[in-house]
Amino acid sequence: MEPAPQTRHPVEPLHVRKIYRLQQIRQLAPDIYVLRFDRNGMNFRAGQHITLGIPGNNQVREYSIYSTEKDPALEVLIREVDNGLVSKQLRKLIPGELLEVDGPFGYFTIPEQHLHKKFLFIGTGTGIAPFHSITGTYPNLNYAILHGVRYTRDACERHHFPRNKYLLCASRDTEGDFHGRVTDYLIQMTLDIDTKVYLCGNCDMIYEVYDLLTSRGFPSGNIKTEVYF
Ligand SMILES: Cc1cc2nc3c(=O)[nH]c(=O)nc-3n(C[C@H](O)[C@H](O)[C@H](O)COP(=O)(O)OP(=O)(O)OC[C@H]3O[C@@H](n4cnc5c(N)ncnc54)[C@H](O)[C@@H]3O)c2cc1C
Repeated sequence: MEPAPQTRHPVEPLHVRKIYRLQQIRQLAPDIYVLRFDRNGMNFRAGQHITLGIPGNNQVREYSIYSTEKDPALEVLIREVDNGLVSKQLRKLIPGELLEVDGPFGYFTIPEQHLHKKFLFIGTGTGIAPFHSITGTYPNLNYAILHGVRYTRDACERHHFPRNKYLLCASRDTEGDFHGRVTDYLIQMTLDIDTKVYLCGNCDMIYEVYDLLTSRGFPSGNIKTEVYF
């Protein structure tokens, strides 16, 4: 028997940007805010990112999802970049206005078969966002977080993380748990070779940590990275 002909929509792009409604902006510091908006039933894995923009502006940027898989809304954590286009445009939105969203994308996630492993999450600045989603989604995960910021005040919602699993490295003040960069802390740390290390943030930190670990014989296969800029 002839197989039934496949029916296919003639113009069905792989990803369609959708319009979502902004619910709230949480201003955490002068240049750091959280956008909270309708989830519209989006399914994502903690650690993934989406693209965001203002409808009609034809400019979108990637943002890690900050909220957990269980949250009924979606959140992203954004730093307003000096001379940045989209991070400033999004800040000016008011609740009820619309956002253009696409995704989710990416593989910066925890595979099911690794859920019992030990993790070290290292993020700089808003690079903490995917770890906020991951650790909120899997509260029983065996993990430690190193968060690198310039000033302690930039680690805005650090109280969301269990105190014994989160270590703040502040390079320009002494109010954090450690005065210095995450790489300075890492140099004096002993790391179990089976640990899964996830790195997120600016590429300088990621290259530096990657080189530091692999030069000590740490397997590169146990390192995952998400580069923001
Ligand atoms: C996978 C992925 C996930 C990301 N997730 C987040 C997130 O969760 N939160 C977040 O705040 N950003 C995130 N970013 C960065 C974000 O996509 C934008 O690059 C950032 O918001 C700047 O966009 P803009 O339009 O304001 O600046 P642009 O107009 O695009 O750039 C202006 C200048 O700022 C530089 N720049 C870009 N980003 C930064 C930065 N963070 N700090 C300093 N300088 C920068 C650019 O290189 C450029 O020179 C992510 C990037 C990627 C690739």
